[in-house]
Amino acid sequence: VKSQGRNNIAFYDAGLTVQARQRVVMESRLRSAINLGQLYCVYQPQLELSSGRIVGAEVLLRWHDEQLGQVSPAEFIPLAESCGLIHQLGLWVLQHSCHQVSQWLQAGLPAFRLAVNVSAQQFAKDTMLQQLKQVLKDSGLSAQLLELEVTESALMTDEVRVIDTMHQIRALGVRLAIDDFGTGYSSLSYLKRLPLDVLKIDKRFIEHIPAEQDDKQIASAIIALAHTMNFKVLAEGVETAEQLQFLQQQGCDYYQGYYFSKPLAADDFAALLQNSGG
Ligand code: C2E
Ligand code: CA
Ligand code: CA
Ligand code: CA
Repeated sequence: VKSQGRNNIAFYDAGLTVQARQRVVMESRLRSAINLGQLYCVYQPQLELSSGRIVGAEVLLRWHDEQLGQVSPAEFIPLAESCGLIHQLGLWVLQHSCHQVSQWLQAGLPAFRLAVNVSAQQFAKDTMLQQLKQVLKDSGLSAQLLELEVTESALMTDEVRVIDTMHQIRALGVRLAIDDFGTGYSSLSYLKRLPLDVLKIDKRFIEHIPAEQDDKQIASAIIALAHTMNFKVLAEGVETAEQLQFLQQQGCDYYQGYYFSKPLAADDFAALLQNSGG
């Protein structure tokens, strides 16, 4: 029994070492990817349900590494968060996408709102507001065309300071969305005090509609709740016509998902926007 136990421990340790080594490799490759410009942005259209118009786009980060191949942000964002690279990465996405959208508008593309993901750590840092102002100034993008997506976890730390930051961001004219809503633990009384514009229903509540009765009820309750608090609602992960129809019946304001479009390379998104006529 004893030797078996020792074997198990040895095995477990070896596993950890491989994992740890992979992490170190990925971290160093991510570091150089930033410097080498191997990261790029894709844009997923956000539509207004009532009109079917493209009213926004969420920018999502992509990384292609020569050896590792395409690495998912679900993998490298948490890594960047744990090693502190997220600040550099997040600032780059904000700068790059704001400049891109500003260029598109100058070239005559129809206006739309850009939604940028901001991680909890970025949001908590006191340089965030100053960076945001600087990016808006440098890019020339109108603050009204920018929306920041923050997760519930980002908003649940250090209540007073966070709410103060949110007010200052909105005072610039920038909108705030709460991302992945329903997956965190924010209480309703807390939610009510947050200066938010948009609530994004997490795709896990959308993906089993219409089969799952519970999910339909949760989604419709979230929509009603958001409207009570005067927030707009966006459903993410919409993949089928049935889901879209259900959300329309429930009075959901916006949606995004593969049903209309996957996240697109910059040129493809610009072409789509041009053809949609705005
Ligand atoms: P998220 O912010 O919840 O982004 C939505 C994710 O759902 C994206 O995955 C998007 O490609 C995917 N998606 C969109 N429509 C559908 C659909 O109809 N069905 C399904 N199954 N999925 C859909 P992606 O691009 O892999 O990003 C994963 C996560 O990585 C994001 O989740 C976000 O948390 C994080 N992330 C990506 N880019 C950034 C960034 O620039 N900054 C930060 N902080 N996080 C980012
Ligand atoms: Ca998001
Ligand atoms: Ca989300
Ligand atoms: Ca997510």
